[in-house]
Amino acid sequence: MKWFIRSFILLYLICCGFIGHAQAENKKFGNLEDITARHQVDILIVHGAVITMDCNKSIYPDGYVIITDSVITDVGAYSKAIELVKAKQRIDATGKLVIPGLINTHTHAAMTLFRGLADDLELNDWLQNYIWPAEAKFINPKTVRLGTELAISEMLLSGTTTFNDMYFFEDIVAQTAKAMGIRVMVGECLLNFPTPNCKTPEEGLKYTEELIQKWKDDPLVSVAVAPHTPYTCSAALLKSARALADKYGVMYHIHLVETAKEVDDCRKRHKMTPVEYLRNLEILNERTIAAHCVHLTSRDISILAERKVKIAHNPGSNLKLASGIAPIMDMLNKGLCIGLGTDGAASNNDLNMFEEIDLTAKIHKVTNLDPTAVNAYSVLRMATIDAANVLGLGHLIGSLEKGKMADICLIDGRKFHLVPLYNPISQLVYAADGSDVSDVLVNGRIVVRNGHILTLNKEDLIKKVQLLADKIRNNRRIEQGAALDTK
Ligand SMILES: [Zn+2]
Repeated sequence: MKWFIRSFILLYLICCGFIGHAQAENKKFGNLEDITARHQVDILIVHGAVITMDCNKSIYPDGYVIITDSVITDVGAYSKAIELVKAKQRIDATGKLVIPGLINTHTHAAMTLFRGLADDLELNDWLQNYIWPAEAKFINPKTVRLGTELAISEMLLSGTTTFNDMYFFEDIVAQTAKAMGIRVMVGECLLNFPTPNCKTPEEGLKYTEELIQKWKDDPLVSVAVAPHTPYTCSAALLKSARALADKYGVMYHIHLVETAKEVDDCRKRHKMTPVEYLRNLEILNERTIAAHCVHLTSRDISILAERKVKIAHNPGSNLKLASGIAPIMDMLNKGLCIGLGTDGAASNNDLNMFEEIDLTAKIHKVTNLDPTAVNAYSVLRMATIDAANVLGLGHLIGSLEKGKMADICLIDGRKFHLVPLYNPISQLVYAADGSDVSDVLVNGRIVVRNGHILTLNKEDLIKKVQLLADKIRNNRRIEQGAALDTK
């Protein structure tokens, strides 16, 4: 009898196990079958090494991503069930790394037009004697469109899917970004002197408010209020800009403490650091993006952390202009959220985020004399999910997760400098480059395929830029000649 009862229990357990397993399998298939049964999906990316940058640090060595309309509807490890998915387009990502599109948290896109015009100069000399005069003469809606097209082409081809811009005629920047299929945050640069677009700060504020209203429901474009710096904007302008940003709940984007001179001048004028000055003006809060933050006291870092200010770290530009190296380790230790940026191409001199990733991973090790400082994963976060949080867009972009917008970058791992592959994060941070990017999707649209941009004619653009560069070069010669004549 005991034998019979034992056998019965065993049989029962085996059956339960089998049914449970079958249910689990069904459930696993269910997700994909639901997707398949509901309707045909738009894009299936399959067999790539998928690095999600989600909060569990999920990596699928042989993974898939499903996209419907503009959204990621599923992501995970490959199984035979994937073959049931009916996709309008299937991208075989064998041998490729699949990552969230990179996010450039601080740039001036149209300044690509001045790439290489003046180098090896100190910031104020470079700005006042070269860049500002060239901008005054050559920056208009037409040239901003051209320079922005050049910048976006470069950014898309090197894996950037979102950029945070501060320049002039930002409505043109928004239009250009939308036409070329890249995500953008635009901010009209506000100054206390006339700009190529606005004669007065009031005009700049009005233009910004119109931008906010015009683009408020756009899937690709968002708008920030963008006063240039605490020293080129009056206290009144800084405060009016803050009021405008608060009125619409948008980000406030400003250069802050880029050079030691800025700190010295501020101490002379206001008897405090620029960070303390902005704190006293009640400018700083969690919807503030502070670009650079190179020369900070420990008190400054505490203030930025208390106010939850977001940091755009631009190592390439800071190194080239010898501005200094931002104390990123101290900021991370205080819990600050940091994203990477290239700054403009006139001070970098390119918009390749892979270079910023590489620099960030290395310069903070050497400044801290600590090879464990700022590890590879944390740097990749600064170019993806942390950068998204810097822009206040972390709920939409920055990681490959169900429900997020499909901003995705594929990197061709079949290059000599990318084999063998032990650790995809190490490979991306220490070995990969922008030229390894093969395919890019923004908002579910394929904008780069097999290393070619699909939304612009390359030869036409290069020809137009060369023509304008000839004019800028000739003008510079005439100005230099005039300067010699007056000596
Ligand atoms: Zn800048």
